[in-house]
Amino acid sequence: MRDNTCPECTTSLMVESRTVPFPGLSDVLVEDVSVVVCSSDDCAYHAVRWHRPGALSREIARQIASDPARLTPERLRFLRSTLGFSGKELADYANTTAESISRWERGHRPHPQWIDLLLRSWILQMPDRDADPLDWLPHITGDTPPALTVSAELERPATA
Ligand SMILES: [Zn+2]
Repeated sequence: MRDNTCPECTTSLMVESRTVPFPGLSDVLVEDVSVVVCSSDDCAYHAVRWHRPGALSREIARQIASDPARLTPERLRFLRSTLGFSGKELADYANTTAESISRWERGHRPHPQWIDLLLRSWILQMPDRDADPLDWLPHITGDTPPALTVSAELERPATA
């Protein structure tokens, strides 16, 4: 849908570079975003054109995960959705309830530190493409683990 006239008033459109908040993150601003705007002063039409939104979400998520400040409810939701988890999927995977996740993400209850740490750690190992988290995160089964045998002779660095 690339038309050169405004869909609201048919005046010509132009593209501007602006700084805008990232959707769903009121405290994250993105610079150099292409925004299609109406050239009429009387018309408020504008449309943001995100260039590679998936890659941008992953970059923002990595920066949030590396920031030592406790996650805000909004950032908690953003990291969860950037990982590709619905609230229910994360609840099932992390053995909690979808209601708890919903309360944490809306700020109705403070989230426990373990979910903050888990989401950060997963974001920092996330593949650099859109991927179902259940394809790359480990699956923990209810099985009794087999006995493990490890050699005490660990590989040593070569000496001259
Ligand atoms: Zn217009």
